[in-house]
Amino acid sequence: MTHETCTNATLPVLTLSTKSILESQVIEPGLCTGCGACIAISTQTESVMADSPLGPLPQFSGEDPPDAAVRVCPAYRLSYPDLYRSHYQSLPESWLLGTVLRTRTGHATNPDIRRLGASGGTLTAVLCHLLITKRVDAVVAVRQGVPEPELARAVLCHSVEDVLSCAQSVYVPVSVLDILRQLEPGKRYAMTCLPDQAAALRALQREGFGPAHQVVYVLGPYTGTALYPAAIRNYLRSKGVRPNDPITSLKWRAGEWPGYLEIKTQSGQIFRSNKVYYNFLIPFFITQNSLQNMDFANEFSDLSVGDAWSPALEAQGQGFSVFTTRSQEMEDILQEMCELNLLTTKSIDPVKASEMHGHMMDFKKRGGYIRNQFRRKLGRPAPDYGFRPSPLPFSRILVECVISSIFLVCRTRLARWLLSLIPERIIGPAFNRLRLGWKALSKPTKRKGLGNLTMIETHKASAKS
Ligand SMILES: Cc1cc2nc3c(=O)[nH]c(=O)nc-3n(C[C@H](O)[C@H](O)[C@H](O)COP(=O)(O)OP(=O)(O)OC[C@H]3O[C@@H](n4cnc5c(N)ncnc54)[C@H](O)[C@@H]3O)c2cc1C
Ligand code: SF4
Repeated sequence: MTHETCTNATLPVLTLSTKSILESQVIEPGLCTGCGACIAISTQTESVMADSPLGPLPQFSGEDPPDAAVRVCPAYRLSYPDLYRSHYQSLPESWLLGTVLRTRTGHATNPDIRRLGASGGTLTAVLCHLLITKRVDAVVAVRQGVPEPELARAVLCHSVEDVLSCAQSVYVPVSVLDILRQLEPGKRYAMTCLPDQAAALRALQREGFGPAHQVVYVLGPYTGTALYPAAIRNYLRSKGVRPNDPITSLKWRAGEWPGYLEIKTQSGQIFRSNKVYYNFLIPFFITQNSLQNMDFANEFSDLSVGDAWSPALEAQGQGFSVFTTRSQEMEDILQEMCELNLLTTKSIDPVKASEMHGHMMDFKKRGGYIRNQFRRKLGRPAPDYGFRPSPLPFSRILVECVISSIFLVCRTRLARWLLSLIPERIIGPAFNRLRLGWKALSKPTKRKGLGNLTMIETHKASAKS
């Protein structure tokens, strides 16, 4: 059993076990991202990630998970500057995009893969290429519909067909790192991770955890917001679907880019909702991880990919990604894929690339910090990533008061129930207009100082070591 000593000027010295720290500081306050890292390193086979209304949560059995579980947990005190130093040997030049070798826009050249993917099929094309060229023995990706249509799981893909069946984004929390327990010794893997999972994986590698080193390529999406699983049932309730009419198929981004939510039920009903319209679910069901995490561009993946939101590319339709390489090996693979005409790409200046997502980068880098500070001021636990954004104008804090108040109200049970009474044809367009109006109104404040945003380290002791 492992222990950590917690001190506070006003409290007596407490000695807490690893399990108690994770339970009291992370899981019970609702901060757990469901990454699965603590379960990956647990020596107890009965300890598992279990489904809950908040997504997957760890269920410990018997002895504590090892000490390292606290050090790798991305919802506790994982210092990003330290992780930067251990993984990249330096801090990034850009605190918006992270370490960058090259940024591009583009898509899978194969039209079938492009159509299958969320925003051009770039991730799917690269994962397939890694398998075909035998750079990896298998891929860990996330598949909607496992073990049943409404749920999603991380799965091991040994063939191109397996990888293709995982194309698309899954916008509810899925535990990924607990699958490290299933890796075969001596084999090499590629894995798709969200930002918290990629950071925890790098922390596991830093701890010398063997299976984490078998993941030789980490790929992942830019990640703005995810939804709690209840969003789906609430959406169906607003359509008059009875709880005893099970879902038979669910796709988050079916059809032509940017795609639509498509749900089929056993009674034969089919519901389709344009991506920009079902965004109205976000303020009501946004996950706590989306609010607390400060990494949008998936800064610890070798390749991270987002939607290329630019008027010129949107006008062309069919799906465009914007992507960032962060390791020389991944950069060489992408160049090889371009030469083989597997990817169609165009280089883009990193500043231009980050402008496509300026609003969300601010939401994470400054908004995430302010929201975590709000929690601390209210005496509630909050993750501490070891840095703070600068500049942080007072006007930005005021904007965050408005944003956080909206989330606070919308996430109540009453608000969710009221939402289920409003037809989507009214709430969808109305919410979209409100969102665009708010974006325009808050843009001057949210973009102020963003271009030269820097992060100041706050864990002084570790910064020196
Ligand atoms: C929760 C979430 C929030 C996002 N927010 C934004 C945003 O705000 N702005 C933006 O531009 N882009 C966002 N994205 C990324 C975007 O939706 C696409 O995933 C990305 O552009 C890659 O497109 P693609 O066509 O290359 O991917 P595809 O070729 O469709 O491949 C996607 C791969 O990612 C894996 N994957 C899907 N969901 C998950 C998951 N939850 N965890 C781990 N692996 C997963 C799949 O298994 C698949 O292998 C988000 C994605 C997710 C999952
Ligand atoms: S390591 Fe991951 S799964 Fe475990 S408590 Fe922390 S966030 Fe949750």
